[in-house]
Amino acid sequence: MSIKREKMLPYGQQWLDEEDIEAVVQVLKGDFITQGPAIEAFERKVSDYAGTRYGVAFANGTAALHAACFAAEIGPNDEVITTPLTFLASSNCILYQGGTPVFADINPVTYNIDPHEIELKLTPYTKAVIPVDFSGQPAEMDRIQEIARLHNLIVIEDAAHSIGAQYQGRKVGTWADMTMFSFHPVKHVTTGEGGIIVTDNERFYRRLLQFRNHGMTRDPQELISNEGPWYYEMQSLGYNYRMTDIQAALGTSQMNKLDAFIEKRKILADLYSAKLADTPGVILPSQHADASSSWHLYIIQLDSKLNIPDRKNVFQKLRDMNIGVNVHYMPVYLQPYYKNLGYHRGLCPHAESYYENCLTLPLFPKMTEQDIDYVVTCIKEAINEM
Ligand SMILES: *Cc1c(COP(=O)(O)O)cnc(C)c1O
Repeated sequence: MSIKREKMLPYGQQWLDEEDIEAVVQVLKGDFITQGPAIEAFERKVSDYAGTRYGVAFANGTAALHAACFAAEIGPNDEVITTPLTFLASSNCILYQGGTPVFADINPVTYNIDPHEIELKLTPYTKAVIPVDFSGQPAEMDRIQEIARLHNLIVIEDAAHSIGAQYQGRKVGTWADMTMFSFHPVKHVTTGEGGIIVTDNERFYRRLLQFRNHGMTRDPQELISNEGPWYYEMQSLGYNYRMTDIQAALGTSQMNKLDAFIEKRKILADLYSAKLADTPGVILPSQHADASSSWHLYIIQLDSKLNIPDRKNVFQKLRDMNIGVNVHYMPVYLQPYYKNLGYHRGLCPHAESYYENCLTLPLFPKMTEQDIDYVVTCIKEAINEM
């Protein structure tokens, strides 16, 4: 038996260095801690990285998704297709706008939304699709774009897991009409709380800016009338969803390290895969031939057909060894709130059976090979020790 480690190994964690701290301190010593120049610099940094014309930063990724649904003019009577295998926000943002989330099942091999299932869920009311690049692996964006063009749908890519990932050699950010990145501390780079929408579409860009700031504009091109230099207009119902300059400065500094973080995540994921290969009962994550993951999560499944302890049992044993394993995610529509809206078990069988067996292992750039060895050994012990 392994000796239990002293401190809990979390499933994800930020990596901040002196440069990041100095960047924040500089803002604190300056004239603007919000609505200053650090925001635009951060937006430029992220949109340059993603390869898009525009970026609009938000208080968090969920607010960014809400704004994207507003920009896409999703409203009552509109259906939006998304995956059940995601964090609540990908689907809640549809509800915020009064739209109806429609869940399309996952591909049981990649865990991403299955384009064929999207086609089966299309109706005359379908207005948009929100694919999620689950665990960091891009969804099948070529096929999703093809369906969207054919049926006049807007694609909002939830790339909270996948900044820096590629599909067919093209970076995430340039595939969809709008793409969301989150800067929560468990994600690749952090601003504490934060999110962004990147896009090439000027109309969406202008709507996102208004929505972030109470639906207000001062832009002379947008004003209906102009009563003087003090004048602004509220043209739609927006929110205060702004990011602070403190956060933006941290984000710009963190972006300098993004590629190194992703490189380290790939190395760690490869180590897991090599060391867990041929472990009876352990199903390793599988990559689509066109996808290059940025590895937000490393998820295994426990083969319920084999005579090994079940997921709950293994989960508890690993937590007892101070390993912060996790479960991502229970299908969204099984949440009580969604059940009350009328969604029911059986809607997406692949997502449901995945949920029974999945287990997220710790993965963050500061981990060492010794950490990986400890997790792998504990998994093997948990499975064999019946
Ligand atoms: C983290 C996350 C979000 C929301 O981001 P926040 O910044 O925490 O609001 C949305 N979708 C997915 C898939 C996420 O993992």
